[in-house]
Amino acid sequence: MTTIAFIGLGNMGLGMAANLVKAGHNVLAFDLSPSAQKAAKKSGCVIAVSINEAVKDASAVVMMLPSGDIVRKVCEDVFFSSVPGALVIDCSTIDVETARDMISKAKAQLIDMIDAPVSGGVGGAAAGTLTFMCGGTTEAFERARPLLDIMGKNVFHAGDAGNGQVAKIANNMLLGIHMIGTCEAFNLAEKLGLDAQTFYDISSTASGQNWSMTSYCPAPGPVESAPSNRDYKPGFAAAMMLKDLRLAQEAAQSAKAATPLGAQAMALYALMESAGEDGLDFSGVMKLINGSL
Ligand code: NAD
Repeated sequence: MTTIAFIGLGNMGLGMAANLVKAGHNVLAFDLSPSAQKAAKKSGCVIAVSINEAVKDASAVVMMLPSGDIVRKVCEDVFFSSVPGALVIDCSTIDVETARDMISKAKAQLIDMIDAPVSGGVGGAAAGTLTFMCGGTTEAFERARPLLDIMGKNVFHAGDAGNGQVAKIANNMLLGIHMIGTCEAFNLAEKLGLDAQTFYDISSTASGQNWSMTSYCPAPGPVESAPSNRDYKPGFAAAMMLKDLRLAQEAAQSAKAATPLGAQAMALYALMESAGEDGLDFSGVMKLINGSL
């Protein structure tokens, strides 16, 4: 039985840690929130009172935290208390620069670390079907792989340190852009007298077809399981999309990459935030486009 420290047992981390427990690992969990601690305990984790207690005997440390600043802070304690040769897997979605910096600091302390952000949402975390996009050395990636295979279905090595975050933000920037484009197309069709179902039947088999249309259709009706049929209850919240679009813009500026549509997508999701509607699913940007927000 391997001892694994798990830090950050929120919406995503809880299901991921529970899957490690189910696979027979001893999971020492640390989270600042008492309700997260309680839920982790119920899932079979052992609750640690500090990061030090969680990581000091662990051969691997998994982190699932909200932001780059928090990852930096937590890493200080993790690096300080980890056993030499420990493996650190950061599954949080954070900025590329922090991911690269943390992996280089880990290396200086002889700790193997990878960035391994995920897609697949809370459902995928609970079901163990996440997609992992990993950055770091091949050796660190291969060490992490058995644990990632427990928590996910598709595991990719995207290259060097930080490349997992690059894959994640580039993918989600594209997702935000095609969701907004899909909203515009459905809204245009409807304003010109074409109902959503008919437009869907045509466009989903024509060249406008895309994942936002066929899996998360922002117009109520055509896709039964889409959040648009449940008053845009998430799903994947607009606030999370905005976080990823902001990370993408930050990275694009540092790399001098032109991302005019990514910038526009960020501005539109920021309007949802200003309107206090960023708790809606990201397909709820339809309400901004059709004027019903
Ligand atoms: P969450 O807010 O539900 O969970 C984060 C947890 O971290 C909370 O329980 C919080 O108490 C804990 N935490 C914060 N600071 C801490 C600290 N210093 N020490 C220990 N614990 C601390 O967030 P989430 O939805 O689980 O998302 C986690 C990460 O996964 C984010 O980076 C997010 O962008 C990414 N992500 C989320 C989803 C999703 O659908 N929710 C999908 C893909 C990726």
